Amino acid sequence: MLTSQICDYDENEVILREGELGDRAYLIESGQVLVYLPKDGGEVPLKVLGKGEIFGEMALIDHSVRSASCRTLTAVRLLTVTQEQLLNRVQSADPVVRLLMRALLDRLRDQNSEIRGRRLTSSTSVHAEAFAQDQRDALDRINLESKMSRGLENDEFLPYYQPIVDLASQQIVGCEALLRWRSSDGILTSPQVFIEALEQSPLILDVGQVILEKCVADLVKLRDHLPAGIEDHFFVSVNVSGRQFADAQFLDRLEKARGQVGLESKHIKLEVTERIMTEGPLAIATLQQCRKLGYKIAIDDFGTGFSSLQYLAAMPLHDLKIDRSFVVQMMSNEKALSIVKTLIHLASLLNLNLIAEGIETSEQLAVLQNLGVQMGQGYLFAKPMSFADLVTVLSHRQAKGLAQAA
Ligand code: C2E
Ligand code: CA
Ligand code: CA
Repeated sequence: MLTSQICDYDENEVILREGELGDRAYLIESGQVLVYLPKDGGEVPLKVLGKGEIFGEMALIDHSVRSASCRTLTAVRLLTVTQEQLLNRVQSADPVVRLLMRALLDRLRDQNSEIRGRRLTSSTSVHAEAFAQDQRDALDRINLESKMSRGLENDEFLPYYQPIVDLASQQIVGCEALLRWRSSDGILTSPQVFIEALEQSPLILDVGQVILEKCVADLVKLRDHLPAGIEDHFFVSVNVSGRQFADAQFLDRLEKARGQVGLESKHIKLEVTERIMTEGPLAIATLQQCRKLGYKIAIDDFGTGFSSLQYLAAMPLHDLKIDRSFVVQMMSNEKALSIVKTLIHLASLLNLNLIAEGIETSEQLAVLQNLGVQMGQGYLFAKPMSFADLVTVLSHRQAKGLAQAA
């Protein structure tokens, strides 16, 4: 695999030529570069680029040959960008953005061909296939966004609840609100199908707010059904995306929703992922503010993304959730078990509570109990359920022996 390199060029050196196959792009750290089209033994200048600008990226994105040549106008220092570095980002972008990018690239290539007075047969079948795929993805995405927007208007989004139990006593101590989409035909869709699209669109702000409002209203109704002794600590955990925290109105809307029903903030736990750290200073400031106002904060999916231990120090946390993937793997994989043990140690050093996710078997439960994990959730206890079912579970089973009853 190629890695980024620094390359120094003298004045008037050719860096890449039209028609060549490209395997890297360049970021200009200093100096000036001329992009030009060779024509009739001379050159047609297209653009002069300077510090911070990129060139050579087109051939990498659409797997085509270089559409123009580039040479230095002064001494130049460049940083290479590998195909892998570039394509990773392109592929993880919103499909509509990918389509826009390809359309712009094609338009640029057409313009260059017009200047030369001929058409380059530069498009490869790889490019054509990738373009067609991006068109399909973009169409699907726009369709899905329109459906979600209509779903929001028709009040089709609601929370389901999964009990969270104290592993030692097996009492229900709280629940996690999990978003569901019940479309007009009655079909219930899990967020795995639409959460990525929702989080990439501004709709997440309104859908997130609807879920928060429904959660606090449900929690108030739940009070009368809670087993004696737990109502003071019972919490509902709500998944909040980084974009919501980065929204200047989030805190006001949350406080308003809570204030309207007269619920104390300690009953609401906000589940965030490490991605919040990439949302900028406002998101972190909002998180800090939430903690000051008494909300509980849990970090979700820790260790599954681009985790950094620094995040743990920077975030005002109460709980750390052990991801389902570790719980599944720890039974057969020594390394996964070591990671779980390390998380437990880390949590105790940082004074955080642990919640294990996705407990499906009594063997997993026994391991986690022996390791001293305080709380857990999973199909062994209960699947996510409607609010009405949660009321029934809390009223009739009195939370005791859920694992046996499930
Ligand atoms: P998550 O926060 O990690 O939620 C846990 C997921 O694991 C849920 O999937 C839950 O139904 C599932 N699960 C729980 N116990 C078990 C088990 O024992 N076995 C297995 N196989 N799965 C189990 P779900 O409800 O499909 O949610 C998927 C993800 O969507 C959530 O992952 C969360 O990241 C996101 N999400 C859910 N609700 C919201 C929401 O209101 N807002 C935002 N921003 N994201 C949400
Ligand atoms: Ca969660
Ligand atoms: Ca999780």
